[in-house]
Amino acid sequence: MSFLKGKRALIVGLASNRSIAWGIARAMHREGAQLAFSYQGEKLAARAQDMGKELGTDAVFECDVSEDAAIEKLIADAAKAMGGIDILVHSVGFAPREALAGGFTESTTREAWRIAQDISAYSLVALTRAARPHLAKNGGSVLTLSYLGAVRALPHYNVMGPAKASLEAAVRFLAQDLGHEGIRVNAISAGPIKTLAAAGIAGFRKMLEHVANTAPLGRSVSAEEVGDAAAFLCSDLARGITGETLYVDAGYHSVGMTLPE
Ligand code: NAD
Repeated sequence: MSFLKGKRALIVGLASNRSIAWGIARAMHREGAQLAFSYQGEKLAARAQDMGKELGTDAVFECDVSEDAAIEKLIADAAKAMGGIDILVHSVGFAPREALAGGFTESTTREAWRIAQDISAYSLVALTRAARPHLAKNGGSVLTLSYLGAVRALPHYNVMGPAKASLEAAVRFLAQDLGHEGIRVNAISAGPIKTLAAAGIAGFRKMLEHVANTAPLGRSVSAEEVGDAAAFLCSDLARGITGETLYVDAGYHSVGMTLPE
C-alpha cells in the first residue's frame, strides 16, 4: 500500500524486538516511511544499530528523555539525518519497579510519582516542543502509547495510571496547541503485550490471561497490530483525527461485564 511513502519518522523508545516501538517501526517501514530511532543507554547501542540496519537506517541515536539537552540533540540529529521530521513516535514509559507491585496507596511515593510523570508523560511534551520547528506543517504527526490505567483503576499498575492520565491529557492540549500548524497529536491505548517494560509490572502474566478471557476478540493484541494502527494514525489517511486516544486492545476497554458460559 505504501501509504507512508515520503514520510520521515523518528521513533523514540526502541529496547528489544518485543518493543511496541519495533512493531510500529516495522509497519511504518513496510508502508514506505524513512526511519530514525532512539534508544536509552549505551548498553543497547549495538542491538539498536543492528535493528536500524534491518529496516534500512543508520540514523540510530542514544537519548535519555530525562535530560533536556539529550532531547535537543536527538531531535537535531534525527532532523539532520532525514532532512526533517514528519512523524514523531513516543514509545517511552518508566516507573521504579517497587512502585509497580502491591497496593497503590503504600507503593506510590513522591519520588516514584515524580519519575513516572517525568519519563512517561512530560517527555512527550519536551520531545514535541523540540521537534516542532522540524515537524512538517500540514501533515506532521505525533503519536504516543498509553494504557487503560489512564482511565480505569487496575491492580499493580499503580503510579503509572496517573502518569498515563497526564499523558492522555497532554495529547489533547498538544493537539489543540499545534492544530493550527497542521500537526496532529494522538495516542494509542494498547492492550497488554509482553515487553521489557511490561515485565516490571507484578502479575503481568495473569493480566494477559484475563484480557484474553474477557476481550470481545477473545485474545490479547500484538505489537504488530499496534504498529498497523500507528502507521494509519500517523498517515494522511487519518488527516481528520487529532487529540484522540485510539484503543488497540481487542475491544477489552468496551466491556462492562462478562458471565461464565
Ligand atoms: P519497552 O520496554 O520495549 O519500551 C519502553 C521504552 O522506554 C524502552 O525503550 C526504554 O528504554 C524507554 N525508556 C525508559 N526510560 C527512558 C528514559 N529515561 N529515556 C529514554 N527512554 C526511556 O516496552 P513497551 O511495552 O514497548 O513500552 C512502550 C510504551 O508502550 C510505553 O509507554 C508503555 O507504557 C506503553 N504500553 C505498553 C503496554 C504493554 O503491555 N507492553 C501496553 C500499553 C502501553
